[in-house]
Amino acid sequence: MNGSLIGDEGVDLSRVGRVLNIQRFALHDGPGVRTTVFLKGCPLSCAWCQNPESIAAEPQIMYAAARCAGCRACEEACRQGAHRFDGEGHVYDRLRCVRCGACAAACPAGALELAGREQSVGAVLDEVQRDVPYYAESGGGLTISGGEPLVQPAFTAALARQAAARALHTCLDTTGFAPWAALEPLVAVVDLFLYDVKLLDDGAHRRWTGRGNELILANLERLVAAGAAVELRCPIIPTVNDTDDHLDALARLVGRLGGGVGCAILPYHTMARSKYDRLGMVAPLGDLPSIPPQRAQQWVDALRRRGVDARL
Ligand code: SF4
Ligand code: SF4
Repeated sequence: MNGSLIGDEGVDLSRVGRVLNIQRFALHDGPGVRTTVFLKGCPLSCAWCQNPESIAAEPQIMYAAARCAGCRACEEACRQGAHRFDGEGHVYDRLRCVRCGACAAACPAGALELAGREQSVGAVLDEVQRDVPYYAESGGGLTISGGEPLVQPAFTAALARQAAARALHTCLDTTGFAPWAALEPLVAVVDLFLYDVKLLDDGAHRRWTGRGNELILANLERLVAAGAAVELRCPIIPTVNDTDDHLDALARLVGRLGGGVGCAILPYHTMARSKYDRLGMVAPLGDLPSIPPQRAQQWVDALRRRGVDARL
């Protein structure tokens, strides 16, 4: 890392963002081997969200009751009285919790975890740069994801600008739900936009994600018109959008956008269900099963028959 707090091209390396997680050796967040930086905060609340701990902007405690060894270290660490032990065993009271993280730091069993921390641009890039040799070999790099990274536009822009100055290939994984003013400056420094397209019908989009899709689709068209490299990321969710009508609408969208825009299908799976439990949330889709791989491949084939450059 550059020793000063000012990085290449005047980027403020001390700028702090709310980071959920930094995942090394990610293979599905853009080309090659990547390091994915997940940021906190999202304006959408998709019923199938695989990262529910990223939706809230502030840190959260995740509690896995099955891992609790009953040592009571959390009770001692908490100044708010949010952990207590009674006839029912260990009770964690989220209403008392101010999310300081003291209990998670004290827990020897990994039953408590603080999801979200503040980290500077410089510190994040230090971690990302540890794997430069793997990026060079595989054509990988940095992916900025979330949540929605554009909830923190200044931090995301600083990260992307500094990564570009260091010749790191950079992807931005975005819902597209952000002011164009937040997206536009990134066109010059992001190599590939991984752009979510969930539903093409505005009412259905609002019902399943909490927001309409007008802004998202307008930003997508602007990005492509500005010459950005874009790959659509299209979750397929049984009972929500696994219909021929949705396939047709996706194919029409790709046709309108013009050549060069590919489409990655993201089949629904249930791996996030335990995260909802640990956050004290109810998974909105309940027991809906994962899509089997052969069904997901059928979607890819069906899109290809419609002229879309689709893949899993
Ligand atoms: S995060 Fe802080 S306030 Fe919340 S339960 Fe843990 S120690 Fe108590
Ligand atoms: S510190 Fe961890 S293991 Fe100990 S009682 Fe609290 S949650 Fe359970």
